[in-house]
Amino acid sequence: MISKFKEIYEVELLDRLIRIKSIIGRGDDYKKIAGVIEEELRKLGLKVNVFDGSVEAKDGIPRPCIVGVLDSGSEKTFGVLTHYDVVDIGGAWRYEPFELTVVEEGGEIRLYGRGAADDKGCIVASIGAIKEMIEKDLEPKWNVALIITPDEEIGGEFGAGYIARNRLVDLDALLVADSSSKSLVVGASGIVHGDIVVKGIQGHAGYIFGTENAVHKAITLLNEMLNFTTIRSQKLSRVKTSECPIPRLWGRFSITKVNTPNQAYNIVPDEVVIGFDMRLIPEENVEDALVELKAFFEMVKYRTGIYDAHLRILRAFPGWMTAEEHPFVRRSHEILEEVTNKSLPITGMLGGNDGGWFKDFKIPIISFGVWDEKSRIHGVDESVSLARIFDLKKFIIKLALSEVEF
Ligand SMILES: [Zn+2]
Repeated sequence: MISKFKEIYEVELLDRLIRIKSIIGRGDDYKKIAGVIEEELRKLGLKVNVFDGSVEAKDGIPRPCIVGVLDSGSEKTFGVLTHYDVVDIGGAWRYEPFELTVVEEGGEIRLYGRGAADDKGCIVASIGAIKEMIEKDLEPKWNVALIITPDEEIGGEFGAGYIARNRLVDLDALLVADSSSKSLVVGASGIVHGDIVVKGIQGHAGYIFGTENAVHKAITLLNEMLNFTTIRSQKLSRVKTSECPIPRLWGRFSITKVNTPNQAYNIVPDEVVIGFDMRLIPEENVEDALVELKAFFEMVKYRTGIYDAHLRILRAFPGWMTAEEHPFVRRSHEILEEVTNKSLPITGMLGGNDGGWFKDFKIPIISFGVWDEKSRIHGVDESVSLARIFDLKKFIIKLALSEVEF
């Protein structure tokens, strides 16, 4: 690393975090990185609690969830939610993925490494914000709770979900610091993942009589299921999209995986498992969406006469949205304009994020982060601009210092 940048707290901390390979599901590395973060927060004098989502997951993988609170004696608390898990590398990297590389290019300082933009850059921006408020003796109008969790990349059920379900933090507003720096996000899609399982009768592919080919049956069934894509698209949210041919968030349904148990070509398969991904608009109730899916599926079975098929729902979680007119959104939008000198669009995310777990808190939720068009999140040579980390840090400080009535 270019040594002059090592002096910058956020850069130095980001380097330490990126060096820990906290790839999805690696419990030992989860523990390691959580230990580093916990220590930083304790050094700053925050009230820190570490809760372990494995209590509910019961699979032996540690999932430390850190809640560090800057108590300013206020009645209201705003949360900043980030995640420390990252997706695996893959592909050929120009820069070492598990250490920070600082490059001055195109008039900006870019920091390369897995997790630099998603989401470790946001972790250091939020800790940096707290550090600056303490060092400069600023007087926040809110208590600020940093919530730093694992498992976001696989839905967050035992990370942010664990914290929210068990009300392990008190919140009056939430910033999910895990999105792009190009817009202020006021909504995200809900997600359902599941399988369609079609059964048949196994046998030799040369001696087909008496067999029932599960894949052949599935082709007919799936052809009908494709119509569900059109039906889902009729669900339209009030939340706008950005850089997308459809102007508002809409419902989606995609078939994403196909598997048979077969190892060889000459076996008529007795089972095929088809994975799907369904996206809900933020306004949708998950239970209703599941009933609609089941009703459609049962009618496809009836229409095709293929009855030995069933649905398996693996995970389902809601989206979230906050009205554009909400005072917390208005104030956040003004502050972002002060910080970035731009009036950013107010949009919804096509993806989901951990904000959905806090839906029942009935608090305003917004999302803003550090990615830009060069960041290649989840890709090779992931990077973040140092300027975007500083923007997020300033945004958090200014938000903490402003009184918002609602
Ligand atoms: Zn993320």
